[in-house]
Amino acid sequence: MVIAMGRIRFEQSTDFDPRAIRLAFPIIPSMSAIVLSFDVEEHHRIEAAAHLFVSDDAKRVYADRMERTTDAILEQLASASGTKATFYVVGEIARTHPRLVRRIAAEGHEVASHSDLHHRIDRFDAAGFREDLHRSFDSLKQAAGVDVVGFRAPTFSLRKETAWAAAVLKEAGLGYDSSIFPVRHDRYGVPTAPRTPFWLETEAGRLLEWPPLTWRSLGTNVPVAGGGYFRLFPLAFMKAGLAQMQKANSPSMLYFHPWEFDPDQPKLSLGKVSSFRTYVGIGKSTTRLGELLRHYAGRFARAIDVAKEIVAKELPTFRLNG
Ligand SMILES: [Zn+2]
Repeated sequence: MVIAMGRIRFEQSTDFDPRAIRLAFPIIPSMSAIVLSFDVEEHHRIEAAAHLFVSDDAKRVYADRMERTTDAILEQLASASGTKATFYVVGEIARTHPRLVRRIAAEGHEVASHSDLHHRIDRFDAAGFREDLHRSFDSLKQAAGVDVVGFRAPTFSLRKETAWAAAVLKEAGLGYDSSIFPVRHDRYGVPTAPRTPFWLETEAGRLLEWPPLTWRSLGTNVPVAGGGYFRLFPLAFMKAGLAQMQKANSPSMLYFHPWEFDPDQPKLSLGKVSSFRTYVGIGKSTTRLGELLRHYAGRFARAIDVAKEIVAKELPTFRLNG
């Protein structure tokens, strides 16, 4: 299946197998679809550990655990009526763990990019960012056998300060991006950005931007899409956000990390606040994901498939540096 959209072509992992095509285009109203997305990175790559020394031995342990936990997530999805998800994978992992990336694609999930080395955008200039991006595309394509259509920046680091990167993403030919979190946070966020999918105006043309789920409550955007919020808040918060999106006729983007499903991993020696944010509720993640899979059964879809339909709708526009 190929849909041409200007220069952008969506073609991924449907491979002319009629069964796969049916799975990729579920019979659900796409505007109420929910995307389960997983940012596949080893635990020591998290932003909170950016200035921490992590030994090579510890890195190997986290890499092994990342692989096993991602396999377990794939099994949990498969046993939930073959639910399909989107995996934003660090490019380097496609070189160190090609079997894992091949498996994600072979099971009908979307393989998208989470950069090559999991560096925040503000660590690059435009040329360096472009190079990192393309290296991730090449590595992921080599492992998964499909073109990358979607991207998520590490730590949602597409912000007003890194507005220049939006044009780089557009020029790279991406079909959509999911890097702008419309919330106020010390490390990331663009609180004035729309909460529903929008056209991000860049110097190189407009790019479809799909923000992670927020819940509008008491005049603020509460981040309820996943990560620490998924583990800290009652699931009712995420459900409230999902209900608002459905009412607004908009699909929802959730996000998780494999390491959040591994309560027995060795803990990183983070400061008090970071440690709380990182490990709170970690023992509950698998059960909670199971509850989501049951509660919203039939509404899950891959971002790539929903994005194809979103672009046909009337969408708000937004500029990062406007
Ligand atoms: Zn990440």
